[in-house]
Amino acid sequence: MSTETTPETLGPQDAQWLGSYSKVHMNVFGTPLRVLDHGHGAHVWDVDGNEYLDFLAGIAVNSLGYAHPKWVKAVSEQAAKCAHVSNYFATEPQIELAAKLIKLAGAPEGSHVYFGNSGAEGNEAAIKLAKLYGRTLPGASPSIGGKPARIIAMTHGFHGRTLGALSATWKPAIRLPYEPLVPNIEFVEAGDQLALYEAFSQTGQGRYGKGPVAAVILELIQGEAGVRPLGAEYVKKVRQMCDINHALLIIDEVQTGVGRTGEWFAFQREDLSGGVKPDMITFAKGVAGGFPMGGMIAFGEKLSALFTPGSHGSTFAGNPLGAAAALATLDVIESENLVANAEERGRQLREGIMATGNPLFVSVRGRGLLDAVELAHPCSHAVMNWALEHGLIVNAVAPDALRLAPPLIVTEQDVDQAVSILAKVPADLPND
Ligand SMILES: *Cc1c(COP(=O)(O)O)cnc(C)c1O
Repeated sequence: MSTETTPETLGPQDAQWLGSYSKVHMNVFGTPLRVLDHGHGAHVWDVDGNEYLDFLAGIAVNSLGYAHPKWVKAVSEQAAKCAHVSNYFATEPQIELAAKLIKLAGAPEGSHVYFGNSGAEGNEAAIKLAKLYGRTLPGASPSIGGKPARIIAMTHGFHGRTLGALSATWKPAIRLPYEPLVPNIEFVEAGDQLALYEAFSQTGQGRYGKGPVAAVILELIQGEAGVRPLGAEYVKKVRQMCDINHALLIIDEVQTGVGRTGEWFAFQREDLSGGVKPDMITFAKGVAGGFPMGGMIAFGEKLSALFTPGSHGSTFAGNPLGAAAALATLDVIESENLVANAEERGRQLREGIMATGNPLFVSVRGRGLLDAVELAHPCSHAVMNWALEHGLIVNAVAPDALRLAPPLIVTEQDVDQAVSILAKVPADLPND
């Protein structure tokens, strides 16, 4: 995410803190837009006391907005009991959470969860499990004369910044400087059925034949690429090719999961998945309402059993504070019907934006509360800055697209307020 500050509009406290920030932080995020202090619901305040309506929610993380009382209570109570125990021990919250996630995903009997602390770690776990699975396929190493199994990823896909997840992440600018990365991960053009067929058909004996395909990894809505749905017909084709070739389908639900698209997981939406079932899903971002937490669910006993003691791990995996935060988040999403709210408020938001008649807005795409406004010209940073100065946080996800991912607790009035701010964005803002 690249950001641009507009120093002339920064308050004095913001300006001072951001000066200090830059002196001591690696410059990987650019200069932050503001220094935030506290929030309530969908609203957040900076250190100068300016208020913002937050339609980014920490990049689809703050499912319950800021400081939801049930989340605060759950985290505080768990902190007062034990914040961490290591994986030589277990805690009740992690056990409850794993069972709950399996249930919400509708994963079959025998499915198992691996917890990590981020989306990248969820995908690392998925890639490692896929590698173990790949070794069991006919024609794959380590059998004699076998070739390494492959993983197929999509152009424009995003799976995280750690070296394994980055190997499956498309964007050349962030991937190429670190090559060579994990070998035998290949990209196919997203949405192109023929390219997919060709990639699978390169498996074979002889000098030019490649190893079998262990897995395909994809997002049903490519979030970082600008909130672009892959298309249900294509996803059905991917599942079909995976089935024929005994390959796994890994659906990265890091951004789309936990209610955001109007179902618990995006693959449960027929209009995104064509009704297909994954072999693994990965999750993070919104799952713990702001606490760092992520992971992977392997569907079914056989696949899950490929991970054995020592196969994988992390010191913080299944951390009780994170698990308590996630349980509280899921409980509130359920009890306040926030999955349905995501669907309804998302529709209101998309329709409201188009009804503004602002010539800058060409269309709005997305599902539930993961949406992007397509702009008439590439001025997304200028729009983001203008909106920020007028009290609304949105995200310049692509030069010509604004990402909107408000908290799932967003109200009808919040959406009306956001739409009325967006209605006034000058259509002739300069290109970035
Ligand atoms: C954000 C994101 C990730 C990476 O998550 P981190 O927590 O930043 O490691 C992976 N996949 C998708 C689809 C994402 O949106």
